[in-house]
Amino acid sequence: MVSLVLVSHSKSLAESLVGLIRQMAGRELKIGVAAGAGPDHEEFGTDATDIARAITEVDSPDGVLVLMDLGSAILSAEMALELIPPDIRQRVRFCPGPLVEGGIAAGVQASLGSDIETVCREAHRALQPKAEQLEGSVEGVAPVVEVAPPLEAQDFHQVEVVLKNAHGLHARPAARFVQLASKFDAEILVTNLTNQKGPVSAKSLNALATLGALRDHRIRIMARGKQATEALEALRRLVEDRFGEPVGAAEGGPPPIQPVVAEAEVEVQGEEGVFVGLPVSDGVAVARLYHYESLPPMVPHDYTSDPEAEWERLQDALEKVRGAIQARYREMVARVGPEEAAIFEAHALLLDDPDLLQPARRLIFEQRYNAAWAWQTSVEAMVAQYQSLDDPYLRQRAQDVQDVGNQVLRALSGESREKIVFEYPVILVADELTPSETAQLDLEHIQGIITLSGGPTSHSAILARSLGIPAVTGLPPAIKRLSSETELGLNGFRGRVWVNPDERVRNELEVERRRWLEERQKLLASSLQPAVTRDGKRVEVVANAGNLTDAQLAAQNGAKGIGLLRTEFLFLTRQTPPSEEEQFQAIRDIGLALKGQPVIVRTLDVGGDKPLPYIPMEPEANPFLGVRALRLSLQQPDLFRTQLRAILRAGALANLRIMFPMVATLEEVEQAREFLSQVHSDLESEGIVHAWPIETGIMVEIPSAAIKAEALAPAVDFFSIGTNDLTQYTLAAERGNPHLAYLGDGLHPAVLRLIEQVVQAAHQEGKWVGVCGELAGEAEAVPILVGLGVDELSINPAGIPKVKAILRAMTMSEAQSLAQKAVKCAKASEVRRMATKFLQALGVGG
Ligand code: PEP
Ligand code: MG
Repeated sequence: MVSLVLVSHSKSLAESLVGLIRQMAGRELKIGVAAGAGPDHEEFGTDATDIARAITEVDSPDGVLVLMDLGSAILSAEMALELIPPDIRQRVRFCPGPLVEGGIAAGVQASLGSDIETVCREAHRALQPKAEQLEGSVEGVAPVVEVAPPLEAQDFHQVEVVLKNAHGLHARPAARFVQLASKFDAEILVTNLTNQKGPVSAKSLNALATLGALRDHRIRIMARGKQATEALEALRRLVEDRFGEPVGAAEGGPPPIQPVVAEAEVEVQGEEGVFVGLPVSDGVAVARLYHYESLPPMVPHDYTSDPEAEWERLQDALEKVRGAIQARYREMVARVGPEEAAIFEAHALLLDDPDLLQPARRLIFEQRYNAAWAWQTSVEAMVAQYQSLDDPYLRQRAQDVQDVGNQVLRALSGESREKIVFEYPVILVADELTPSETAQLDLEHIQGIITLSGGPTSHSAILARSLGIPAVTGLPPAIKRLSSETELGLNGFRGRVWVNPDERVRNELEVERRRWLEERQKLLASSLQPAVTRDGKRVEVVANAGNLTDAQLAAQNGAKGIGLLRTEFLFLTRQTPPSEEEQFQAIRDIGLALKGQPVIVRTLDVGGDKPLPYIPMEPEANPFLGVRALRLSLQQPDLFRTQLRAILRAGALANLRIMFPMVATLEEVEQAREFLSQVHSDLESEGIVHAWPIETGIMVEIPSAAIKAEALAPAVDFFSIGTNDLTQYTLAAERGNPHLAYLGDGLHPAVLRLIEQVVQAAHQEGKWVGVCGELAGEAEAVPILVGLGVDELSINPAGIPKVKAILRAMTMSEAQSLAQKAVKCAKASEVRRMATKFLQALGVGG
């Protein structure tokens, strides 16, 4: 028979519940209790060790179902799993059902001899009868999942799309979805057709999260109202464009989430012990421990006689937190780039979420709770909703709600947290670091990060990797009991943490740390050398960048400049266009990070498949053939002029070049150059310092431009071949369509012929040619492109050392004869085979 474990903050509550369950389920059922904290369990709280004991005591071959009350009970129960033997662990299930009703339902079902899944299901559904009786509402707290209007309403339009981005509707994509949906005057609902969850409102981040919508899930978006069709079109495109995440982000991004607690094991030998957790960021460190505590904010539990004033107080606090979050966002954009900082945008959105605000409002006006108490109640309900989701990635987002919730509570109580500055190197130990806490830290002195919870995709793990700080997660709570005098050793490759390492271990760690730092240095040093072929031809290797972090990484990895700066990063995650000043500062900072090396700034490449919410765009049947890139800039003169002004101004301080994307004809180049000269004249007459003349090139990514390269060459200073688009347009195969991936090979001889033609036309005019599509970073393509005469390769910063190694291993004449054979091939696969053999013969793999 399945046995139960009840985990509660209150010993008396749990004990009474056992009596209640026994009344209905009989005495045979084994029920373990882990409730209360402190020596006699009389204090309110939960304890992982106690939960582990209870599970072990009632362990049964049919499994153990654990039911918990709120908040830390769940965390403690998860931690308890670390402490029990693996054979018992695999029989344990955590049930998201409510403690009281769920406990009774589970007890009855277990006593009938049902299997653990059935018992869990019954407990999970235990609130249904009550909810139905109360007509779907629990007094004071609205259900997170909004009940949709009857679907037979005929005025709904709808589309169905499949989520193709790495994590489905997780925090950031969901935030973008909500932001976009909120722009339209339409009621919009979303249903997850894969797991049959929903419909829920598309304008609530929390409601969307309850859909548990993951990669490859099919969702239905329904809309009615004035702008229903526009809304559907925009949302469809957002999803189909993978929310702007790069294709392959899943592969290149952080490792997939794993059940942290299940994997961690502990080998503690007193104070001299070794902890084993999950490695989440490479590197080795030895330093003093620093306990980072997130103190829960104060929440008075008293009633108000003036609900209006309490509601006002809550509004003021929300406003204050909004300002702080926006400031943090800007700081983190500068520090780690817009992608990592995007979480703060999701945080700001939570402040407007009706699923948090409406219950809080009801509690203030109907129950007369004070603002803090009402807000906390609403936040806790939301946190519990997240924690009950199946997907571990979405479950982790409970932390974001808690984080924002606590900030509002602090603002209400007038508390503030000062920035923590360390005077010596430390290894930080924390339960988990929230984004706002991380932003408060003096990162310079942090040599390592240890967290108890949070997986490889948690914010602290992502941040540690971006900053190159070694980190381990999933450590047991015992580490929290160590004194702050303790010295820790940390190995972020293997997930090990040593407590007061003895001299031998310490020496070994020091050696490993030196080796790690030297290795980093060596890689850097070799990639800092120029790339010269064995027969003396120098090839420029530069990098593609999408933000300041990329640019800094590029400089560290030995890029001789930025061959493609995608300025879209300044536009895509906003509600309004960036001002000239904002663009100027961002471009200037990137230019300065490259310390005089050239940076090719590509003007805006959005539109079509990447809509901007603040630019009115007609829906298009074929967005990739539509108004995008330079076409959009030419149709939006103000937007274009503002960007050109910012680039020319930043060019006075850094070595910048300009490049126009998606050029199809000579007329477009002439018009774009006309805009540029006009902007120069304006700046001149306003007496504003700017770069002039400025090297100006175009992207060759449309076959017409490649075929007529000889006509375009005199009008430009350089060409940069965008093989991503050139391949899609040459083979008429949309680059994001997975069913056509087999056609999207840039090494197809048809594409290579066009590249050859472009190079010849450019060289005849004395102009140089770069390649900035992904092909430039593919090992097999490197000798072929260079053999065709390409002068510069612009690639992902991380790929620079490898490309340089290939260039150094080959000669130009070998590469030229390989390239000549390649253009004569009939198939892309033949080209690849030849190139692989070529690389193998050079000893640089393939
Ligand atoms: C390309 O098309 O090859 C290119 C580099 O531009 P993007 O990928 O930004 O369209
Ligand atoms: Mg392109």
